[in-house]
Amino acid sequence: MIQIDALPAFSDNYIWLLQDTAKRRCAVVDPGDAGPVEAWLAANPGWALDTIMVTHHHDDHVGGVERLKQQTGARVCGPAHEQIPGRDLALDEGDQVSVLGVAFRVLAVPGHTLGHIAYFSDQPATPLLFCGDTLFAAGCGRMFEGTPEQMQPALARLAALPEQTEVYCAHEYTLSNLRFAKAVEPANPHVLQRFEDVTRLRAENRISLPSTIGLERLTNPFLRTAETLVKQKADEWKGHSNDSQVTVFAALRSWKDRF
Ligand SMILES: [Zn+2]
Repeated sequence: MIQIDALPAFSDNYIWLLQDTAKRRCAVVDPGDAGPVEAWLAANPGWALDTIMVTHHHDDHVGGVERLKQQTGARVCGPAHEQIPGRDLALDEGDQVSVLGVAFRVLAVPGHTLGHIAYFSDQPATPLLFCGDTLFAAGCGRMFEGTPEQMQPALARLAALPEQTEVYCAHEYTLSNLRFAKAVEPANPHVLQRFEDVTRLRAENRISLPSTIGLERLTNPFLRTAETLVKQKADEWKGHSNDSQVTVFAALRSWKDRF
């Protein structure tokens, strides 16, 4: 049984910490800064850092990798098609990797970056998804390198995972994402409820993650490009009809970039 906690980093990143409490081994996802992980290891003597899982090459996800690897000898797993410091295991679509005894399947999810990967485990009780900067709670990452033709299907694949899948994304962007979701779907009761819930959590300085795929399907406009009302809003923004989910997605993404 794996326990998962967030180690906050920088202003709004989370480094996910997976813990195998029986064997006192742990793994981290996207350590952009070694400091929070070092502090946790110092506060928890006897624990070993076993694996570093990386989703993509941005500095705020890999900045701490080399230092942690040097200090702990942890294995570094990362996307095959990006430059990842200290990478031991290059992962691509369909690959399997076992971390702390949990089997993960690798999904290629290009868009935010071209080689971005996500880690999915369909363990029976709670499937897990570590998706970096591709899918956020109520939002998605900016398209820095990819195209809408790549990113919309990548998000649709994530949306098709089991609804109880816990979604561990890499930033605390949920509240601002929900402000945008409200602009897209002002009458969506699930969006309005989630906005209230997350507003309360953030007022108490509490984390809004993990999400679930089920909740994302109900509240994330970027996964709702097939909804008529979402398409209408995308059409209003662009001033013309968007006739595919890809173009609806592209319209929403460009709207959000200026929101
Ligand atoms: Zn990024």
